[in-house]
Amino acid sequence: MTIHNGITALIGDTPLVRLNHVTDGIRATIAVKVEYLNPGGSSKDRIAERIIDAAERSGELGPGGVIVEPTSGNTGVGLALVAQQRGYRMIAVVQDKVSQDKRDVLAAYGAEVVVAPGGVAPDDPRSYYSVARRLAATIPGGYMPNQYANPNGPESHYLTTGPEIWRATDGHVTHFVAGIGTGGTITGAGRYLHEASGGRVTVIGADPEGSVFSDPDHTHPFLVEGAGKEDVPAIYDPSVVDAIEAVPDAESFEMTRRLAREEGLLVGGSSGMAVAAALRYARARDLGPDALMVVLLPDSGRGYMSKIFNDDWMREHGFADVVARTSAPSL
Ligand code: PMP
Repeated sequence: MTIHNGITALIGDTPLVRLNHVTDGIRATIAVKVEYLNPGGSSKDRIAERIIDAAERSGELGPGGVIVEPTSGNTGVGLALVAQQRGYRMIAVVQDKVSQDKRDVLAAYGAEVVVAPGGVAPDDPRSYYSVARRLAATIPGGYMPNQYANPNGPESHYLTTGPEIWRATDGHVTHFVAGIGTGGTITGAGRYLHEASGGRVTVIGADPEGSVFSDPDHTHPFLVEGAGKEDVPAIYDPSVVDAIEAVPDAESFEMTRRLAREEGLLVGGSSGMAVAAALRYARARDLGPDALMVVLLPDSGRGYMSKIFNDDWMREHGFADVVARTSAPSL
């Protein structure tokens, strides 16, 4: 019998899948790491488990504890999943741009959802960071993991995501591509892959156009969720990143829709962005058949059905061309 001891036992060990259709004209092999197959539906399950383990060990989190976190949704789900399994209360503070779908998922897992305005500075008392910090400080037993500064985030990717990619490619991976949000994935997995390969692996960050990582002097709003920031998070280590590709929202969303239609991969906008970044990089350098690029796809498209996968929403946000190129033909 193979019976797992609870759903959190299935976090990690996600598969690599080759892209066969959106890679026209590219000679390199492009494989994606499908993180929506984690039990909570995203790569953030990994950090949630390790952060809560560490907080229990340090005594910051104990019986009756309340986890409060500012999160774009996925970290909240990961934390809510691990929190309920261990008997903690969970409060997620989300920006108002986060989709209703994502908020409903948090609530379904038993988390309480608090909404704060986007587009205000992080030190503004109205920001989702400030609201979460205030709640964690005032609620008895409150603990804020603070994924933007918690070293256990990158550490979880150093200990799991990186080694999984190395093993699954028998050490033949040549490029690793990931979006940058907290920077935890690229910092942890990228560092592991640099070390394991003796510096042979090239680590490429994917960033929404307008975010701080690609162009700190020209930040502006963007619509991709999860990746991209207005300020550089504390755990992000730029020394791990060999190159950054900035991707406009339209290109990210077009690739997101193509991945669903052509590769059977229903993923979120930051996944489309990461694949678009990989294709840009492979084309610009004319990578040959010896290159094996691994692109991390952080989450599922299920949380974006009312946005990226909704033609009206897309047209209202200026992506009519993308809709025309990627919609199913009507009879
Ligand atoms: N995409 C999505 C959908 C995410 O939720 C996140 C995490 N916030 C990322 C990308 C970026 O990952 P990281 O925080 O590890 O940089």
